[in-house]
Amino acid sequence: MDLKQYVAIVPDWPKPGITFKDITPLMANGEAYKYATDQIVTYAREREIDLIVGPEARGFIIGCPVAYSLGVGFAPVRKEGKLPRETAKVDYGLEYGKDTLTIHKDAIKPGQRVLITDDLLATGGTIEATIKLVEELGGVVAGIAFLIELTYLDGRSKLDNYDVLTLLEY
Ligand code: IMP
Repeated sequence: MDLKQYVAIVPDWPKPGITFKDITPLMANGEAYKYATDQIVTYAREREIDLIVGPEARGFIIGCPVAYSLGVGFAPVRKEGKLPRETAKVDYGLEYGKDTLTIHKDAIKPGQRVLITDDLLATGGTIEATIKLVEELGGVVAGIAFLIELTYLDGRSKLDNYDVLTLLEY
C-alpha cells in the first residue's frame, strides 16, 4: 500500500518556510492506519518488546495500537506539568529556547525492552530526549519506530547506536 497518498503536505504551516506533514488523513483511513500499525507490530515482535513509550501527542497515536496488538503496556512521555506523580525530566533544545519532557518514575522496570514510537523524525531532538528518559529509568531501547522521516534534517545522525524503523521518507 502506498501510504504517502494519505499524508497531507501543508506548505508554510505552522509558520512560513515549514512544510508540515499531516498524518490525520492516514489515521482517518482504517485500512491505511491498520497497514502502518501492522508493520510496526511486526518490527516490535521481532525485537521482543515489553513496553511501548511515546511522546505526546502523536507518539500515542502510533504507539497505542501497537501496544494493544502486542498485548504490552504503553507509557506516555509528556510535557512538564501534565503527569500527576513523581517524574523523571529532561530538557531539550527547540529552535528558540527549550522545553521539558517527563515520564512517571515507575513507568519502566529496569531491563524492560522498550519500543519508542512517534509520528515523525525531524531534527531528532524529541526522540533523543525520550531515549534519555527511558535509559535513565533503566529501560533498554530495543527499537524506535516512526511513520515518517524527514531525511533532509538528518535526525538519524542522533540515532546511530539505535535500531530505527521508518515507514516513509521525505
Ligand atoms: P524533532 O524533535 O525536530 O525530531 O521533531 C519531531 C517532533 O515534532 C515530533 O514529535 C513530531 O510530532 C513533530 N513534528 C515536526 N514536524 C512535523 C510535521 O511536519 N508533521 C507532524 N509532526 C511534526
